[in-house]
Amino acid sequence: MNCKKCYSPSTVILRKKDYYCDNCFMLITNHKFRACLGKNKVLIPYENVMIGLSGGVGSTVLLDLVHHATSLENTKKLRISPFCLHLYDDDSRELAESIIKQCQTYKIDVFVVHQAVYINSKYELPEANTLQKICESERRDFKDLMNSMPPSAANDFLLKIKRILLVEFAKKINCSVVFTAETTNTLAVNLLTNLAIGRGSQVQYDVGFCDNRDDKVKIIRPIKDISIEELNYYVSIKQLTPVNYNHIKSKSLQSVISSFVSELQDNFQATISTVCKTADKIGDQRESINSEKCLICESDLDMKNMKMSAFEATNVSRIVSLKDSQADPTYQETSDILHHMQNNTNTSVFPLINKYLCYGCSRNHSEMNLHKLPNQLQKALRTNNLGI
Ligand SMILES: [Zn+2]
Ligand SMILES: [Zn+2]
Repeated sequence: MNCKKCYSPSTVILRKKDYYCDNCFMLITNHKFRACLGKNKVLIPYENVMIGLSGGVGSTVLLDLVHHATSLENTKKLRISPFCLHLYDDDSRELAESIIKQCQTYKIDVFVVHQAVYINSKYELPEANTLQKICESERRDFKDLMNSMPPSAANDFLLKIKRILLVEFAKKINCSVVFTAETTNTLAVNLLTNLAIGRGSQVQYDVGFCDNRDDKVKIIRPIKDISIEELNYYVSIKQLTPVNYNHIKSKSLQSVISSFVSELQDNFQATISTVCKTADKIGDQRESINSEKCLICESDLDMKNMKMSAFEATNVSRIVSLKDSQADPTYQETSDILHHMQNNTNTSVFPLINKYLCYGCSRNHSEMNLHKLPNQLQKALRTNNLGI
């Protein structure tokens, strides 16, 4: 078969039916990346951009795409100054070192930050291209915190921690934009997980093109339209070496959903793209100005403008059933009950919900060893909780 663009012999077959040669395939993939950035208009020329690297296939391709686009000498040159950031932990020191080498081949600086800095919330920028050193007590507290939670909650919480670290370190190097390299596969898993753990209202932030929960730093996903099949071809054509593979904790909701999605994809080629297209439709992303935000994940806590969630519905039943059997005239309308819930959060199983934490983070909060949380966060939650 011949390439459908230039009719030379084909080397790439996508979705079992589209034939391309290496050249045309690379042109199309580069174009997809640029079109995704262009269409969404979030970049200002000469902006500092931080690229969050995991070392996986998506991350390896994203780094190469950025390098290619910024090295062009024509009008198509991508005018940004890239910096890289990698978050490592004790079990992945070798990986971190491989990522430093990966970045050196592109002559781009990488800041390698230990995830445990979350514990002290002192986000000091380490020296570029070296592993950040960290004190023993922070390292231990972080491990204890993560180990105190069941695997599904720990996976979810770790994603929130990584998001906070990306945003905070971006601010340190004056980047108002962060690129992350989630592939459509990761996003499909994240979407289904979000729905399962009660983060339905945050789908657009977690799975869409742009996460603008922070006022100063936007996280964008410029390769979200490139499939894993295309990424694998890209890696093999350019002979790149991804240094990291899956890191989801096994025996968790996320790992079950991940194997469910990839097994389905093997037999039904449209699975992942259908899931991702659905995500674009169900999201309702607003510029959230002045609304209260969750202290852990920065999602809106704007209960008044939200339709009633399953959690609120359960709470309404709970409040009504706790009342005397005689009808209480105070609660004639559902809105009265919602009002009551907002003012009396202690009637809820999660006392901090909707005031300081979203539903998903409240669940994690109820499952973790609270004494290990960062002091600043403990203090905020405690001070705020005194009024209850
Ligand atoms: Zn061709
Ligand atoms: Zn939250």
